[in-house]
Amino acid sequence: MSERAKVLVKERIAEAGVDLLRESFDVELGLDWDGDRLQGRIGEFDGILIRSATRLDRGLIERADRLRVIGRAGTGVDNVDMEAATERGIVVANAPEANSVAAAEHTLAMMLALCRNVPQAHASLAGGAWERSRFKGAELYGKTLGVLGFGRIGQLVAQRAMAFDMNVVAYDKFVTAERFRELGVEGLEAPEQLYERADFISLHLPKTPETVRFIDSGAIATMRDGVRIVNCARGELVDLDALCDGLRSGKLAGAALDVFPHEPFTDHPVLSRDDVVVTPHLGASTEEAQDRAGIVTAEQVTAALSGGVVTTAVNIAAVRPEVMEALAPFVPLCEQLGGLAQGLGAGSVHRVEVEFRGRLAESDTRILGIAVMAGILKGHTEEAVNLVNAPHLAEQRGIELTETREAASEDFTELVVVRIRSGEDSVEVAGTGVGPRNIPHLTRVWGDDFFLPFADNLAIFRYKDQPGMIGRVGTVFGEEGVNIISAAVGAEPEGDTAVMALTTDNAVNRETIDRILELDGFTIGRAVSL
Ligand code: NAD
Repeated sequence: MSERAKVLVKERIAEAGVDLLRESFDVELGLDWDGDRLQGRIGEFDGILIRSATRLDRGLIERADRLRVIGRAGTGVDNVDMEAATERGIVVANAPEANSVAAAEHTLAMMLALCRNVPQAHASLAGGAWERSRFKGAELYGKTLGVLGFGRIGQLVAQRAMAFDMNVVAYDKFVTAERFRELGVEGLEAPEQLYERADFISLHLPKTPETVRFIDSGAIATMRDGVRIVNCARGELVDLDALCDGLRSGKLAGAALDVFPHEPFTDHPVLSRDDVVVTPHLGASTEEAQDRAGIVTAEQVTAALSGGVVTTAVNIAAVRPEVMEALAPFVPLCEQLGGLAQGLGAGSVHRVEVEFRGRLAESDTRILGIAVMAGILKGHTEEAVNLVNAPHLAEQRGIELTETREAASEDFTELVVVRIRSGEDSVEVAGTGVGPRNIPHLTRVWGDDFFLPFADNLAIFRYKDQPGMIGRVGTVFGEEGVNIISAAVGAEPEGDTAVMALTTDNAVNRETIDRILELDGFTIGRAVSL
């Protein structure tokens, strides 16, 4: 009989999780191990389970000769050197959904506490006062809740709010109309539409460059008078000074906050306002969420060590090696095409169509479809998107992916065409890989053809086909300190407009694009950073 694999449970997890591991492995508990002991013994284990207190840095991972899986009972994996783990083929898996219910329930608790002045009334009575008229509240019944970010937690909050007979509207760039409808929620196309309608606004967005200060004074100005704002997502999403101004002026009727721009957060005027309810980042803090995280992680570690599918792997794709070998060179191209198409689109992503033409049509291209989806979602979800979790993340948002394969390809040996449909609109881009290293090249945008190596930062313009246009863009970019790496132009022989695509060293900002759009002849301009 082969030797049982050895698993180290380095931090406390649910007993049920440990029991599950014991069924298949020799389990050792190292809860009280110090750094030296871990360093001395890590080489004995095939799997290790941690929470947030254990730091698995490169030095430790390099000593872990037998290690095949690291299970993180929770969401963030900042305490694991991911690059070192991936280089050594160690799967890192987490439990990203374990605390979603806890966070959703806390959101409802905060909404109710805010409406019924629960903390204030409690403090008053505990202080010896019997003040009934001072704490007259408001009801959730019949009110409109606007959910910003309709991912895992946003969806759970919506379902719970409907149990209180609230009308729920939601905005999420990546969720389809069908998914909204399935859950009985009205999906909106822009945050402003939500601000016009909502009596309560609850944030469930991840923190990304796009969502930081999502709620600022401009957004607050467009909201209904007397709205209440709840933030149990990330502190950086709300500009607290603008929030305080809104409360002071009476534009906002109240706010409930579980998260803050930096934590611990104990000294700010918002904390002592009567119309604000606060908790110290308790959203995920339930017994059950912690237990669930331990059990899910134990399941993932078991799957990794027994050849099963690790559904929450954050670094390694679950694809057969021979398929991966043939198609891996096209993964970056597909991710970049997905990211570019998403960046060029104006509305929500409803359907994604991918065409594989030429030699690629002979292969099982599913992994490349997933790579397109990963490129679309990358940077817009709470957990890092990869080839393992992209299908699941797309399914949660109701995004449909269709693939077609066509052996004929006119100009290129292989061509990938990506089309994103959002309602009536669609955006199409295409690309190919060039040379032995399959360097991704962009070959079509908005119906015009050209040939340009991909880079992380792109700017694309449609303009009237007339002399001097490239020079004008070059001048503005030069004045704004943007260094162009390469540029290409495509135009229909008979058409009177053309498309120019440029790649640049650094991201092109909105103001630079706007300056160019003010010039005569330019009609559309977009900057995309992949
Ligand atoms: P998720 O990734 O499942 O959902 C986020 C949603 O936001 C996605 O559907 C995504 O499409 C959407 N989105 C991203 N960028 C957008 C944009 N620019 N415009 C519109 N929609 C956009 O994440 P989740 O697990 O539901 O977590 C939501 C938030 O809750 C995160 O910020 C997370 O950190 C936070 N959270 C807080 C606690 C707590 O203790 N208070 C606990 C768990 C999670």
